[in-house]
Amino acid sequence: MSDPVIRLTDVGHTYGSVPVLSGVSFDVMPGELISVLGVSGSGKSTLLRAIAGFVTPTMGRIELRGDVVCADGHEKTSAQHRSLGMMFQDYALFPFMTVAENVAFGIHDKPDRGERVAELLEMVGLEGFEDRRPGTLSGGQQQRVALVRALAPRPVALLLDEPFANLDGSLRQSVGDEVRRILRRENTPGILVTHDRSEALGLADRVALLGPVEGSKDAGLMQMGTPEEV
Ligand code: ADP
Ligand code: MG
Repeated sequence: MSDPVIRLTDVGHTYGSVPVLSGVSFDVMPGELISVLGVSGSGKSTLLRAIAGFVTPTMGRIELRGDVVCADGHEKTSAQHRSLGMMFQDYALFPFMTVAENVAFGIHDKPDRGERVAELLEMVGLEGFEDRRPGTLSGGQQQRVALVRALAPRPVALLLDEPFANLDGSLRQSVGDEVRRILRRENTPGILVTHDRSEALGLADRVALLGPVEGSKDAGLMQMGTPEEV
């Protein structure tokens, strides 16, 4: 049995005096895509931000490849040093940089930088787009650039916060399938946060369902299992 890439143990968070989340525990195994599913306000983004290091959760422990990055409300490793990739709903591409510059952004002075960028753009069918600006691309193409930019530095895992929410129906499906295929190919595990049931069940290896837990005001892990089980 291999070791988990990400391990959450009893993670919870309270903003000021408002409890949002409690008692969330699960592992993300190498190459696995976990979907965190829950209604708006159930604490999905808070959980992802805690893993990324933008929020220090007030309770519990988070480990990345066996290293404790935060525990009991104390941060041990800052966001910059967690080697995680993030992808958001609004792409957040740099508008004045070319596609190639955007993808290369996180790769610092590696000798194979150019090759890596070319490999990634080819992987998402964007060879020939190197010198374009993001504003001249379609939504789906921008989403693909955001995906490979996040993967370029070979992150330990990719964290995706409702990344397809701005795409319409069929595009959503095809970009979703593409993300799944590329994470497999790169052997990078991921956590995909979504409020869309079919997206969560259709793409993930396992689904973590966040929601109200009996006897508690905040949300917790209601169910965790394969799409068939959930
Ligand atoms: P989701 O992503 O599932 O919609 P969030 O994690 O964004 O949920 O939010 C969970 C709850 O925490 C919501 O009630 C939200 O209003 C609250 N919340 C989120 N961020 C903050 C913050 N920075 N300060 C105070 N409350 C917050
Ligand atoms: Mg959210």
